[in-house]
Amino acid sequence: MLTGRRFRVEFTDEQAEFAERIGAACRAVWNTGLEQRRAYRHRGVWMNYAPQCKELAEAKTEHSWLAEVPGHCLQQTLKDLDKACREHGTFRVRWRSGRRWAPSFRFPEGNKMAVVKLNRRHAQIKLPKLGWVKFRASCSLAGEVIRSVTLAREGRHWFISVLVDDGRQRPETHPCPGNAVGVDRGVAVAIATSGGNLIDREFVTVGERRRVVALQRKLSRCAKRSTNGDKTRAALAAVRARERRRRRDFAAQAARQLAAVNAVVVLEDLKTKQMTKSAKGTLDSPGRNVAAKSGLNRAILAKGWHQFALALASAARYTGTAVEKVPAAYTSQRCSACGHVDPKSRESQAVFRCTHCTHTEHADVNAAKNILAAGLAVTACQDHPGPAGAARSPKQEPAGNREELLLQPTTAAPAA
Ligand SMILES: [Zn+2]
Repeated sequence: MLTGRRFRVEFTDEQAEFAERIGAACRAVWNTGLEQRRAYRHRGVWMNYAPQCKELAEAKTEHSWLAEVPGHCLQQTLKDLDKACREHGTFRVRWRSGRRWAPSFRFPEGNKMAVVKLNRRHAQIKLPKLGWVKFRASCSLAGEVIRSVTLAREGRHWFISVLVDDGRQRPETHPCPGNAVGVDRGVAVAIATSGGNLIDREFVTVGERRRVVALQRKLSRCAKRSTNGDKTRAALAAVRARERRRRRDFAAQAARQLAAVNAVVVLEDLKTKQMTKSAKGTLDSPGRNVAAKSGLNRAILAKGWHQFALALASAARYTGTAVEKVPAAYTSQRCSACGHVDPKSRESQAVFRCTHCTHTEHADVNAAKNILAAGLAVTACQDHPGPAGAARSPKQEPAGNREELLLQPTTAAPAA
Protein backbone atom coordinates (compact mmCIF):
# COMPACT_ATOMS: atom_id res chain seq x y z
CA MET A 1 0.00 0.00 0.00
CA LEU A 2 1.14 3.55 -0.62
CA THR A 3 1.80 5.54 2.49
CA GLY A 4 3.74 8.60 3.58
CA ARG A 5 6.70 9.03 5.92
CA ARG A 6 7.69 12.46 7.13
CA PHE A 7 11.04 13.44 8.60
CA ARG A 8 12.72 16.61 9.78
CA VAL A 9 15.58 17.60 7.47
CA GLU A 10 18.96 18.81 8.68
CA PHE A 11 20.31 20.83 5.76
CA THR A 12 23.75 22.34 5.55
CA ASP A 13 23.67 26.13 5.13
CA GLU A 14 24.36 25.87 1.39
CA GLN A 15 21.65 23.24 0.92
CA ALA A 16 19.13 25.36 2.82
CA GLU A 17 19.93 28.33 0.64
CA PHE A 18 19.72 26.21 -2.52
CA ALA A 19 16.39 24.72 -1.39
CA GLU A 20 14.98 28.24 -1.03
CA ARG A 21 16.15 28.95 -4.59
CA ILE A 22 14.46 25.79 -5.91
CA GLY A 23 11.25 26.81 -4.12
CA ALA A 24 11.44 30.29 -5.63
CA ALA A 25 11.98 28.89 -9.13
CA CYS A 26 9.01 26.53 -8.74
CA ARG A 27 6.89 29.45 -7.55
CA ALA A 28 7.92 31.51 -10.58
CA VAL A 29 7.12 28.61 -12.92
CA TRP A 30 3.71 28.13 -11.29
CA ASN A 31 2.79 31.81 -11.54
CA THR A 32 4.06 32.19 -15.12
CA GLY A 33 2.26 29.01 -16.17
CA LEU A 34 -0.95 30.16 -14.52
CA GLU A 35 -0.73 33.60 -16.12
CA GLN A 36 -0.28 31.98 -19.53
CA ARG A 37 -3.22 29.65 -19.00
CA ARG A 38 -5.44 32.53 -17.95
CA ALA A 39 -4.43 34.59 -20.98
CA TYR A 40 -5.28 31.63 -23.23
CA ARG A 41 -8.60 31.08 -21.54
CA HIS A 42 -9.50 34.75 -22.08
CA ARG A 43 -9.07 34.13 -25.80
CA GLY A 44 -11.24 31.03 -25.53
CA VAL A 45 -8.48 28.45 -26.07
CA TRP A 46 -6.66 26.04 -23.79
CA MET A 47 -3.06 25.73 -22.68
CA ASN A 48 -1.84 22.31 -21.58
CA TYR A 49 1.04 20.59 -19.86
CA ALA A 50 2.96 19.39 -22.92
CA PRO A 51 3.43 22.76 -24.71
CA GLN A 52 4.20 24.47 -21.40
CA CYS A 53 6.85 21.86 -20.70
CA LYS A 54 8.43 22.54 -24.09
CA GLU A 55 8.48 26.26 -23.39
CA LEU A 56 10.04 25.60 -20.01
CA ALA A 57 12.87 23.72 -21.70
CA GLU A 58 13.45 26.68 -24.02
CA ALA A 59 13.37 29.14 -21.12
CA LYS A 60 16.05 27.11 -19.36
CA THR A 61 18.57 27.86 -22.11
CA GLU A 62 18.05 31.59 -21.53
CA HIS A 63 17.85 31.80 -17.75
CA SER A 64 20.60 30.32 -15.62
CA TRP A 65 18.46 30.47 -12.45
CA LEU A 66 16.03 28.04 -14.10
CA ALA A 67 18.77 25.79 -15.43
CA GLU A 68 20.53 25.36 -12.08
CA VAL A 69 17.55 23.88 -10.19
CA PRO A 70 16.42 20.25 -10.66
CA GLY A 71 14.38 20.09 -13.88
CA HIS A 72 12.04 17.40 -12.56
CA CYS A 73 10.82 19.69 -9.78
CA LEU A 74 9.87 22.36 -12.32
CA GLN A 75 8.12 19.83 -14.55
CA GLN A 76 6.28 18.48 -11.52
CA THR A 77 5.13 22.03 -10.71
CA LEU A 78 3.65 22.33 -14.23
CA LYS A 79 2.00 18.93 -13.79
CA ASP A 80 0.49 20.00 -10.46
CA LEU A 81 -0.72 23.22 -12.08
CA ASP A 82 -2.31 21.22 -14.88
CA LYS A 83 -4.11 19.02 -12.38
CA ALA A 84 -5.24 21.99 -10.27
CA CYS A 85 -6.63 23.81 -13.33
CA ARG A 86 -8.46 20.71 -14.51
CA GLU A 87 -9.96 20.08 -11.10
CA HIS A 88 -10.88 23.59 -10.00
CA GLY A 89 -10.91 25.71 -13.16
CA THR A 90 -8.17 28.06 -14.38
CA PHE A 91 -9.54 31.15 -12.68
CA ARG A 92 -10.02 29.55 -9.27
CA VAL A 93 -6.42 28.36 -8.94
CA ARG A 94 -4.46 30.77 -6.78
CA TRP A 95 -1.20 32.55 -7.32
CA ARG A 96 1.69 31.52 -5.15
CA SER A 97 2.56 34.62 -3.20
CA GLY A 98 6.11 35.15 -1.98
CA ARG A 99 4.92 36.10 1.49
CA ARG A 100 2.16 33.58 2.02
CA TRP A 101 3.28 30.46 0.20
CA ALA A 102 5.80 28.27 2.03
CA PRO A 103 8.29 26.72 -0.42
CA SER A 104 7.67 23.10 -1.34
CA PHE A 105 8.72 20.99 -4.31
CA ARG A 106 8.64 17.35 -5.34
CA PHE A 107 11.17 14.95 -6.81
CA PRO A 108 9.06 12.42 -8.73
CA GLU A 109 11.66 9.76 -9.52
CA GLY A 110 11.85 7.81 -6.29
CA ASN A 111 13.52 4.76 -7.85
CA LYS A 112 16.76 6.71 -8.33
CA MET A 113 17.14 7.74 -4.69
CA ALA A 114 19.44 5.95 -2.31
CA VAL A 115 18.92 6.00 1.46
CA VAL A 116 21.84 5.37 3.78
CA LYS A 117 21.58 4.99 7.53
CA LEU A 118 24.17 7.12 9.33
CA ASN A 119 23.55 6.20 12.97
CA ARG A 120 20.72 5.37 15.34
CA ARG A 121 19.02 8.72 14.83
CA HIS A 122 20.05 9.94 11.41
CA ALA A 123 19.99 8.82 7.80
CA GLN A 124 20.69 10.50 4.49
CA ILE A 125 19.07 10.43 1.08
CA LYS A 126 20.61 11.37 -2.24
CA LEU A 127 18.54 13.90 -4.17
CA PRO A 128 19.25 15.34 -7.64
CA LYS A 129 21.49 18.43 -7.47
CA LEU A 130 20.95 18.82 -3.70
CA GLY A 131 23.24 15.88 -3.02
CA TRP A 132 23.18 13.90 0.23
CA VAL A 133 20.47 15.30 2.51
CA LYS A 134 20.57 14.38 6.18
CA PHE A 135 17.33 13.79 8.07
CA ARG A 136 16.16 12.56 11.48
CA ALA A 137 15.21 8.96 10.79
CA SER A 138 12.36 8.62 13.29
CA CYS A 139 11.32 5.41 11.53
CA SER A 140 13.09 3.04 9.17
CA LEU A 141 12.58 3.00 5.41
CA ALA A 142 14.17 -0.43 5.08
CA GLY A 143 12.30 -2.78 2.75
CA GLU A 144 10.06 -0.03 1.38
CA VAL A 145 10.02 1.16 -2.22
CA ILE A 146 10.35 4.94 -2.57
CA ARG A 147 7.97 6.47 -5.12
CA SER A 148 8.58 10.19 -4.70
CA VAL A 149 10.01 12.74 -2.29
CA THR A 150 8.62 16.15 -1.35
CA LEU A 151 10.59 18.82 0.48
CA ALA A 152 8.65 21.54 2.27
CA ARG A 153 9.51 24.27 4.72
CA GLU A 154 7.27 24.78 7.73
CA GLY A 155 8.30 27.84 9.69
CA ARG A 156 12.04 27.63 10.20
CA HIS A 157 12.37 23.91 9.52
CA TRP A 158 12.44 21.84 6.37
CA PHE A 159 10.65 18.48 6.22
CA ILE A 160 10.96 15.62 3.80
CA SER A 161 7.85 13.61 2.94
CA VAL A 162 8.61 10.26 1.36
CA LEU A 163 5.85 8.45 -0.52
CA VAL A 164 6.61 4.74 -0.15
CA ASP A 165 5.06 1.43 -1.08
CA ASP A 166 5.34 -0.59 2.13
CA GLY A 167 4.50 -3.88 0.42
CA ARG A 168 1.61 -4.69 2.75
CA GLN A 169 -1.81 -5.73 1.48
CA ARG A 170 -5.26 -4.90 2.77
CA PRO A 171 -6.42 -7.94 4.77
CA GLU A 172 -9.40 -9.83 3.36
CA THR A 173 -11.17 -10.10 6.69
CA HIS A 174 -11.00 -8.11 9.89
CA PRO A 175 -9.64 -9.93 13.00
CA CYS A 176 -12.87 -9.06 14.91
CA PRO A 177 -15.50 -9.58 12.18
CA GLY A 178 -18.60 -9.06 14.37
CA ASN A 179 -17.69 -5.70 15.87
CA ALA A 180 -19.23 -2.46 14.66
CA VAL A 181 -19.17 1.01 16.13
CA GLY A 182 -20.93 4.31 15.46
CA VAL A 183 -18.98 7.52 15.87
CA ASP A 184 -20.39 10.96 16.60
CA ARG A 185 -18.05 13.86 16.09
CA GLY A 186 -18.94 16.76 18.35
CA VAL A 187 -17.85 20.18 19.41
CA ALA A 188 -17.76 19.65 23.18
CA VAL A 189 -16.30 16.13 22.94
CA ALA A 190 -14.29 15.38 19.79
CA ILE A 191 -15.32 11.73 19.40
CA ALA A 192 -18.17 9.81 21.07
CA THR A 193 -18.64 6.12 20.26
CA SER A 194 -21.80 4.05 20.40
CA GLY A 195 -20.05 1.91 23.02
CA GLY A 196 -20.16 4.89 25.40
CA ASN A 197 -16.54 6.02 25.08
CA LEU A 198 -15.79 9.72 24.94
CA ILE A 199 -12.43 10.30 23.29
CA ASP A 200 -10.94 13.77 23.51
CA ARG A 201 -7.86 15.69 24.53
CA GLU A 202 -6.74 19.27 24.95
CA PHE A 203 -4.92 20.63 21.93
CA VAL A 204 -3.89 23.94 23.48
CA THR A 205 -2.52 24.45 26.98
CA VAL A 206 -3.55 27.38 29.17
CA GLY A 207 -0.10 28.92 28.77
CA GLU A 208 -0.25 28.65 25.00
CA ARG A 209 -3.64 30.32 24.89
CA ARG A 210 -2.22 33.18 26.96
CA ARG A 211 0.81 33.40 24.70
CA VAL A 212 -1.34 33.56 21.56
CA VAL A 213 -3.30 36.48 23.00
CA ALA A 214 -0.09 38.29 23.99
CA LEU A 215 1.44 37.70 20.53
CA GLN A 216 -1.68 38.89 18.73
CA ARG A 217 -1.66 42.03 20.85
CA LYS A 218 1.99 42.55 20.02
CA LEU A 219 1.34 41.97 16.33
CA SER A 220 -1.40 44.59 16.25
CA ARG A 221 1.13 47.14 17.50
CA CYS A 222 3.81 46.20 14.96
CA ALA A 223 4.22 48.32 11.85
CA LYS A 224 3.08 46.67 8.62
CA ARG A 225 5.80 44.72 6.78
CA SER A 226 8.31 45.30 9.59
CA THR A 227 10.98 42.86 10.76
CA ASN A 228 9.40 42.75 14.21
CA GLY A 229 6.04 42.00 12.66
CA ASP A 230 7.55 39.08 10.74
CA LYS A 231 9.15 37.73 13.92
CA THR A 232 5.90 37.93 15.86
CA ARG A 233 4.01 36.27 13.03
CA ALA A 234 6.57 33.44 12.98
CA ALA A 235 6.23 32.97 16.76
CA LEU A 236 2.45 32.84 16.41
CA ALA A 237 2.72 30.33 13.57
CA ALA A 238 5.00 28.13 15.71
CA VAL A 239 2.41 27.93 18.50
CA ARG A 240 -0.34 27.14 15.99
CA ALA A 241 1.81 24.50 14.28
CA ARG A 242 2.27 22.71 17.62
CA GLU A 243 -1.50 22.66 18.08
CA ARG A 244 -1.94 21.32 14.56
CA ARG A 245 0.54 18.51 15.17
CA ARG A 246 -1.25 17.52 18.39
CA ARG A 247 -4.56 17.39 16.53
CA ARG A 248 -3.08 15.24 13.77
CA ASP A 249 -1.57 12.90 16.34
CA PHE A 250 -4.86 12.63 18.22
CA ALA A 251 -6.83 11.87 15.04
CA ALA A 252 -4.32 9.20 13.99
CA GLN A 253 -4.33 7.51 17.41
CA ALA A 254 -8.11 7.53 17.80
CA ALA A 255 -8.56 6.21 14.26
CA ARG A 256 -6.05 3.41 14.83
CA GLN A 257 -7.71 2.37 18.09
CA LEU A 258 -11.18 2.22 16.53
CA ALA A 259 -10.04 0.47 13.34
CA ALA A 260 -8.07 -2.16 15.28
CA VAL A 261 -11.12 -3.56 17.13
CA ASN A 262 -13.98 -2.84 14.72
CA ALA A 263 -14.83 -4.42 11.38
CA VAL A 264 -17.30 -1.63 10.61
CA VAL A 265 -17.04 2.03 11.64
CA VAL A 266 -20.01 4.25 10.85
CA LEU A 267 -19.59 8.03 10.57
CA GLU A 268 -21.97 10.86 9.87
CA ASP A 269 -21.58 12.18 6.36
CA LEU A 270 -20.54 15.70 7.36
CA LYS A 271 -19.73 18.29 4.74
CA THR A 272 -17.23 20.07 6.96
CA LYS A 273 -16.22 22.52 4.27
CA GLN A 274 -19.78 23.63 3.60
CA MET A 275 -20.65 23.64 7.30
CA THR A 276 -17.78 25.95 8.15
CA LYS A 277 -18.30 28.42 5.31
CA SER A 278 -17.86 32.01 6.39
CA ALA A 279 -20.92 33.52 8.02
CA LYS A 280 -20.05 37.04 6.93
CA GLY A 281 -22.11 36.89 3.74
CA THR A 282 -21.66 39.48 1.02
CA LEU A 283 -22.03 43.26 0.94
CA ASP A 284 -25.49 42.94 -0.58
CA SER A 285 -26.71 40.27 1.82
CA PRO A 286 -24.72 40.37 5.03
CA GLY A 287 -24.94 37.29 7.26
CA ARG A 288 -26.73 37.09 10.57
CA ASN A 289 -25.26 35.90 13.89
CA VAL A 290 -21.81 36.30 12.41
CA ALA A 291 -19.90 36.19 15.69
CA ALA A 292 -21.73 33.09 16.94
CA LYS A 293 -21.36 31.25 13.64
CA SER A 294 -17.68 32.08 13.27
CA GLY A 295 -17.17 30.85 16.83
CA LEU A 296 -18.87 27.56 15.95
CA ASN A 297 -16.80 27.31 12.78
CA ARG A 298 -13.65 27.72 14.83
CA ALA A 299 -14.83 25.07 17.29
CA ILE A 300 -15.60 22.59 14.47
CA LEU A 301 -12.27 23.14 12.80
CA ALA A 302 -10.50 22.99 16.16
CA LYS A 303 -11.72 19.45 16.76
CA GLY A 304 -10.37 18.20 13.44
CA TRP A 305 -13.47 16.36 12.18
CA HIS A 306 -12.22 16.08 8.66
CA GLN A 307 -8.76 15.06 9.79
CA PHE A 308 -10.27 12.20 11.79
CA ALA A 309 -12.18 10.94 8.75
CA LEU A 310 -8.97 10.98 6.72
CA ALA A 311 -6.99 9.22 9.45
CA LEU A 312 -9.72 6.59 9.77
CA ALA A 313 -9.71 5.88 6.03
CA SER A 314 -5.96 5.45 6.23
CA ALA A 315 -5.98 3.20 9.30
CA ALA A 316 -8.84 1.12 7.88
CA ARG A 317 -6.68 0.03 4.94
CA TYR A 318 -4.39 -1.88 7.26
CA THR A 319 -7.06 -3.65 9.32
CA GLY A 320 -9.66 -4.31 6.61
CA THR A 321 -12.22 -2.15 8.42
CA ALA A 322 -15.18 -0.90 6.37
CA VAL A 323 -15.96 2.79 6.90
CA GLU A 324 -19.61 3.64 6.27
CA LYS A 325 -21.02 7.15 6.00
CA VAL A 326 -24.68 7.87 6.75
CA PRO A 327 -26.73 11.07 6.48
CA ALA A 328 -26.45 13.15 9.64
CA ALA A 329 -30.07 14.35 9.72
CA TYR A 330 -31.88 13.87 13.08
CA THR A 331 -29.16 11.71 14.62
CA SER A 332 -28.95 14.06 17.59
CA GLN A 333 -32.73 14.41 18.04
CA ARG A 334 -33.78 10.75 17.79
CA CYS A 335 -34.02 8.52 20.86
CA SER A 336 -31.78 5.50 20.42
CA ALA A 337 -34.10 3.37 22.61
CA CYS A 338 -37.57 4.05 21.16
CA GLY A 339 -36.84 5.99 17.97
CA HIS A 340 -38.93 9.03 18.90
CA VAL A 341 -37.71 12.21 17.17
CA ASP A 342 -38.11 15.45 19.10
CA PRO A 343 -35.75 18.43 19.27
CA LYS A 344 -36.85 18.97 22.88
CA SER A 345 -35.33 15.63 23.90
CA ARG A 346 -31.94 17.27 23.74
CA GLU A 347 -32.03 18.80 27.20
CA SER A 348 -28.62 20.41 27.13
CA GLN A 349 -25.32 20.12 25.30
CA ALA A 350 -24.49 16.88 27.11
CA VAL A 351 -27.81 15.40 28.24
CA PHE A 352 -30.41 13.62 26.12
CA ARG A 353 -33.71 12.75 27.81
CA CYS A 354 -36.40 11.26 25.57
CA THR A 355 -39.73 13.12 25.80
CA HIS A 356 -41.53 9.89 24.88
CA CYS A 357 -39.93 7.11 26.96
CA THR A 358 -37.68 9.13 29.36
CA HIS A 359 -34.61 7.21 28.18
CA THR A 360 -31.64 9.26 29.43
CA GLU A 361 -28.11 9.18 28.05
CA HIS A 362 -25.13 11.29 27.10
CA ALA A 363 -26.35 13.20 24.03
CA ASP A 364 -23.32 12.38 21.88
CA VAL A 365 -23.42 8.66 22.77
CA ASN A 366 -27.11 8.60 21.89
CA ALA A 367 -26.29 10.17 18.52
CA ALA A 368 -23.48 7.65 17.97
CA LYS A 369 -25.94 4.79 18.58
CA ASN A 370 -28.31 6.26 15.99
CA ILE A 371 -25.45 6.55 13.53
CA LEU A 372 -24.49 2.92 14.11
CA ALA A 373 -28.09 1.77 13.60
CA ALA A 374 -28.37 3.75 10.37
CA GLY A 375 -25.07 2.36 9.11
CA LEU A 376 -26.05 -1.23 9.91
CA ALA A 377 -29.39 -0.72 8.17
CA VAL A 378 -27.56 0.35 5.02
CA THR A 379 -25.11 -2.59 5.09
CA ALA A 380 -27.93 -5.05 5.84
CA CYS A 381 -29.72 -3.85 2.71
CA GLN A 382 -26.56 -4.15 0.66
CA ASP A 383 -25.92 -7.70 1.86
CA HIS A 384 -29.20 -9.00 0.50
CA PRO A 385 -28.99 -10.02 -3.16
CA GLY A 386 -30.99 -7.62 -5.29
CA PRO A 387 -33.06 -8.49 -8.35
CA ALA A 388 -31.01 -10.01 -11.16
CA GLY A 389 -29.17 -7.43 -13.19
CA ALA A 390 -29.82 -4.56 -10.80
CA ALA A 391 -26.66 -2.51 -10.43
CA ARG A 392 -25.89 -1.54 -6.87
CA SER A 393 -24.18 1.78 -6.44
CA PRO A 394 -23.10 2.84 -2.96
CA LYS A 395 -25.08 6.07 -3.37
CA GLN A 396 -28.30 4.24 -4.06
CA GLU A 397 -31.00 4.47 -1.44
CA PRO A 398 -31.36 1.04 0.19
CA ALA A 399 -34.49 -0.97 -0.45
CA GLY A 400 -37.25 -0.13 2.00
CA ASN A 401 -37.74 3.06 3.90
CA ARG A 402 -34.66 4.01 5.87
CA GLU A 403 -36.72 6.01 8.36
CA GLU A 404 -38.72 2.88 9.12
CA LEU A 405 -35.55 0.89 9.71
CA LEU A 406 -34.26 3.57 12.05
CA LEU A 407 -37.47 3.69 14.03
CA GLN A 408 -37.17 0.08 15.16
CA PRO A 409 -36.58 -0.16 18.90
CA THR A 410 -33.28 -2.06 18.94
CA THR A 411 -29.89 -0.70 18.00
CA ALA A 412 -28.81 -4.10 16.75
CA ALA A 413 -28.96 -4.90 13.04
CA PRO A 414 -32.59 -4.57 12.06
CA ALA A 415 -34.06 -7.09 9.67
CA ALA A 416 -34.22 -5.61 6.20
ZN1 LIG B 1 -37.34 7.22 23.75
